Amino acid sequence: MFRGLILILCFLLSLAQVNAFEIVLPKEKKSIVNTNYAFFVGQAKGSETLTINDEHIHIASNGAFAHSIKLKEGENRIFIRSPYGIQVYKIYKNTPVTQEFPAEEFDMRKAVVNCDNTPMRSTPVDAGLNRIGHLFKGTEVIINGSKGEFYRVFLAERKVGWIMKKDITFIDCNKAIPAEFIDMKTERFKNAAVQTIEFTKKLPYTIEEDEKEIILRIYNPELSENSIYNLSVPKPEKYIYKVTLDGAKYTFKVKKVPESLKEITVAIDAGHGGYEKGAIGCLGDEEKVINLKIAEKLAEILKAKGANVVMTRECDGFTSLDERVKIARDAEADIFVSIHLNSIGDIPMDIHKNRGTSVYYFNNNSKQLAEIVEDTTASHAKTRKDGVKAASFAVIRPTDYVGILVETAYMTNPLDSVLYRSEKFPQKAAEGIAKGIIEFVKK
Ligand SMILES: [Zn+2]
Repeated sequence: MFRGLILILCFLLSLAQVNAFEIVLPKEKKSIVNTNYAFFVGQAKGSETLTINDEHIHIASNGAFAHSIKLKEGENRIFIRSPYGIQVYKIYKNTPVTQEFPAEEFDMRKAVVNCDNTPMRSTPVDAGLNRIGHLFKGTEVIINGSKGEFYRVFLAERKVGWIMKKDITFIDCNKAIPAEFIDMKTERFKNAAVQTIEFTKKLPYTIEEDEKEIILRIYNPELSENSIYNLSVPKPEKYIYKVTLDGAKYTFKVKKVPESLKEITVAIDAGHGGYEKGAIGCLGDEEKVINLKIAEKLAEILKAKGANVVMTRECDGFTSLDERVKIARDAEADIFVSIHLNSIGDIPMDIHKNRGTSVYYFNNNSKQLAEIVEDTTASHAKTRKDGVKAASFAVIRPTDYVGILVETAYMTNPLDSVLYRSEKFPQKAAEGIAKGIIEFVKK
């Protein structure tokens, strides 16, 4: 009798494995959110019917499903009915009220920047595409206002920047002496142009680009006239650039990207790793695993074609964003490709529209590569083209390489999950990305 029961139990358990039902997202049955939509992602293998709040849900061939529900303010009860019973989720939508305050004005005060690579922004918002420069530690700035978490930096007449309050320390105005210009030099090499400019102390700067040139502007706001120094360098078709500082001597180097794959170093960055799993798919897959598979295949292909390759991670361990950038810079990478799979996150959109390959870039010098790679990856991996977008991701912000972040497919999309779970997907995606890089280099 007892043995019989165990047999029945084993039989039921094996059935449960074939007809798995699991809700991967949301993780909690009760939650408080401030998004307009809630997303339900999971698997319902073998289920013929699945409804969420009485709406019939389509189940993909591998059992994956995804659905978004528009939330109303306050409590939302969501009923999920399947042959396995009813599950109830309670999601409380709470939209915080944000109040806009005007900037506070005050008399000019002097301050120094606390750390290297401190972003200076065009608006007092700590996100997005509003960076106008990155300041070095010890740069003296003039502050004449504040708003929220930011101080306003006076650069020149009608030119200001915003810097986070935590990033500066005020100094005694009387002790500060205005900066003096010492020297300026231009050197041209076969594949690069180098300009240097030296002052008696560190000053804030911005970088701007127009059709033909890249312009480094250094501001000396304590001088009443001629307070902006412009160093402009003509833009090659494919270029990378950087600003370095030695004492108070700025070096602005603009380099042409080599046109032979054999002269190119590509940094391949498999997104996430270790405890940072990345996005979770409808069937519970972890993004970090697929990212690494694609990265390995891509490295193989590019090496075989003669490129020099460096990987930011080669196993399943945690690597910080700063480390990833450092590895690429130490190798003097010309191109940086970060590999990811997308997830809907909490973006309020129709989940089924979020499908396919998208490629992100931050600097103008990387847009062309992003466009080519979106095209070649989508056509090789048979994904839908989801667009080329500008976004501020730390690994693609440096200008000393051409940097893109490829979201090969959506982890949260059931149709994409059929694709990325197939054995040949990493190879196909890698072939697509490699083709894009090769096309870009030889263009
Ligand atoms: Zn990711």
